[in-house]
Amino acid sequence: PIIGITAFQDPKPRARYIALSEHYPRSVAAGGGLPLVLPTELGPDEPEAYLDLLDGLLLSGGGDVSPLLYGEDPSSRIDTVSGARDSAEIALFKAARARGMPVFGICRGLQLVNVAMGGSLVQDIPSEVPGASGHSPGSIPMDEPYHRITLLGRGSRLEAALRLPAGERTIAVNSFHHQAVKVLAPGLEVVARSADGVVEAFEGRREEPFLLCVQFHPEGMTLRSAPLLGLFAAFAAAAAEYRKAR
Ligand code: MN
Repeated sequence: PIIGITAFQDPKPRARYIALSEHYPRSVAAGGGLPLVLPTELGPDEPEAYLDLLDGLLLSGGGDVSPLLYGEDPSSRIDTVSGARDSAEIALFKAARARGMPVFGICRGLQLVNVAMGGSLVQDIPSEVPGASGHSPGSIPMDEPYHRITLLGRGSRLEAALRLPAGERTIAVNSFHHQAVKVLAPGLEVVARSADGVVEAFEGRREEPFLLCVQFHPEGMTLRSAPLLGLFAAFAAAAAEYRKAR
């Protein structure tokens, strides 16, 4: 299955670059998919044209989703926004859902999906959520487990994909985010939180096509964590099913 991965915008002195950590394509490939990195700005017909080539859509991490998209002005803690990237990814997401294509959202990808479906975001956890624990450590490696998450409910896609040992309901994950879900969009179900209540994973209804979003960065831990590699394997398996049926 071919997995389209959205990319970062990286402004350099002479030009803005399309950028993406190698963790994403490496983890997609390790999970059984063929990664294809997408441009960050798309013309009006391009989302559908790209989706014609794809079997799954991976919405990657990056800068903040513009608060304008959920009816707020930015707090002073919002720095990088890109209306172009926001609108390209929202168009890709909505068109992918309309086709029944599997979607996996990571970090910003989770936030983008929530906003695209009508939810809103905490713009900055440290300044807006009293008592929140750390979610954005300074310079520690991507593969360093930082805080725990606890699975909620039973039989979620997340639980099935992680394949934790029987009875285990928590797993330590990395964490590189200063935003979080505020109001969850209709049609989504929270399936994991950190101990301070921050939403760390949500998914779509189980009878609907694969939609799983996580606030942590499993792509940075797949070399050392079989459960987190399982997220990419479950996504690739759903994409393979979609490819067979389309
Ligand atoms: Mn976190």
